[in-house]
Amino acid sequence: MLAESLKGKSVIVTGASKGIGKGIAGVFARHGAKVLVVARDLQAAETTAREFVAAGGTASGFSADVTRLEGMEKMAQAAAERHGGIDVLCANAGIFPQVKMEDMSPETWDEVMATNLKGTFLSVKACIPYLRKSGQGRIVITSSITGPVTGFPGWTHYGATKAGQLGFMRTASMELAKYRITVNAVLPGNIVTEGLEALGPDYMKGMAEAVPLGTLGQVEDIGHAALFFASREAGYITGQTLIVDGGQVLPESPDALKQM
Ligand code: NAP
Repeated sequence: MLAESLKGKSVIVTGASKGIGKGIAGVFARHGAKVLVVARDLQAAETTAREFVAAGGTASGFSADVTRLEGMEKMAQAAAERHGGIDVLCANAGIFPQVKMEDMSPETWDEVMATNLKGTFLSVKACIPYLRKSGQGRIVITSSITGPVTGFPGWTHYGATKAGQLGFMRTASMELAKYRITVNAVLPGNIVTEGLEALGPDYMKGMAEAVPLGTLGQVEDIGHAALFFASREAGYITGQTLIVDGGQVLPESPDALKQM
């Protein structure tokens, strides 16, 4: 059974101290996986891991920066030592400073590329030797609807990285197929995170009104999609995307929403 197949598996989630990564890590912990909660802020990672342990799960925190290969190698080593190998990598860490192109510095562009795109590559690269040994190696990338499907002013750099992750995924899934490692991506729509909540109830209400299902997504919605890709049952799916957005990308005009 899908819900059973993650029991005892070793799972790394980058960017797991809060937001979507915390949601993904929590779903895996609840399904009996041993989870390494990764973020740069060690205290935040450990606090999140302790919440999962208090709820009966197996988890610990680790500090690493996805932009550094050395950090990613240490992260992979720590997961292998603590949890007996690596079965699943959720490459989730990402940043999204909103700034329009005309005001954007090359440094901001580089920072977003380094975290979202290079960080995906480096985390995957560091985990390959361990995922090869798993026999059920899985990589799940958190992309976005922004970039691959939609646009949003202020996010040229972000959209480029989220679309770039899918280009990376399609060739990575071919290169890793010989090891039976699958690589897939979840594309979240608007998900309730601490950052989104900080924008206030009016903003949240406006965003929810653009979603045919009528509500914003929860971080666990992304966790369940990641859990599916990571399951034994999804072993014949690779190089694919799953949009989890309550139907947000469907209306072809604002009028289409009004006529529902
Ligand atoms: P968030 O709440 O801001 O959390 C980001 C997480 O990533 C934190 O744990 C942060 O911890 C970590 N992080 C940031 N830079 C890092 C680095 N260089 N190395 C290691 N960890 C790093 O973000 P979120 O909204 O959950 O987004 C998570 C992912 O979902 C991103 O890839 C984003 O593109 C995607 N996404 C989000 C939404 C949404 O609605 N929220 C929609 C579509 C896609 P530290 O700062 O301590 O490192």
